[in-house]
Amino acid sequence: MITLKRVKNLSVYEEKFNKSWVYKELHEARNVKPSFSWGLILGIIFTGIDQILFRGKLPFTLRHKHADHETLKMADKMPKIDYPKPDNIITFDKTSSVYLTGTNHTDNQPVHLKLKDPELPIKYTLDKYDEPAQRYCPAGVYEVQYENDLAKFVINSQNCIHCKTCDIKEPSQNITWVTPEGGGGPKYGNM
Ligand code: SF4
Repeated sequence: MITLKRVKNLSVYEEKFNKSWVYKELHEARNVKPSFSWGLILGIIFTGIDQILFRGKLPFTLRHKHADHETLKMADKMPKIDYPKPDNIITFDKTSSVYLTGTNHTDNQPVHLKLKDPELPIKYTLDKYDEPAQRYCPAGVYEVQYENDLAKFVINSQNCIHCKTCDIKEPSQNITWVTPEGGGGPKYGNM
């Protein structure tokens, strides 16, 4: 029987997750991505052995050498990418894709994307990394806007679809995603 206390702190969720098919699938695939840090060929060979022969049951777990945010390269070391416009057949603009997620946070709720240093995006990240939050956020939550040649970092938190990419990817770990008010989605109606 589930006690009220356990429901409140959600510990039962972890227990149920650990017994689910989702955990089983994720556990069996855990070594696939880290093995590609040895290079494409070795990664393919290892993954074939791991997944086909051992079906993800090798008695060890490979680890990534670096956290994701540590691998981001400075903007001046990388080519500028011109992303093609959406063709509305297999690629779509962010606004219509966010609409499909059913996300609708109320505009006046507290911002759930916390900046440890509010000045950092413009004073450091924009110069060094061309503020990548403008591009890695799939919902267009982060924008750099210019007013009288002054850059301003804008957070449209009501569009957030809770992927947590910003929490993981921000190069200085300046963004912390906290739980927003409930009931605002995402809710994918056709899934
Ligand atoms: S959690 Fe995902 S959707 Fe939300 S602001 Fe961060 S990157 Fe954007």
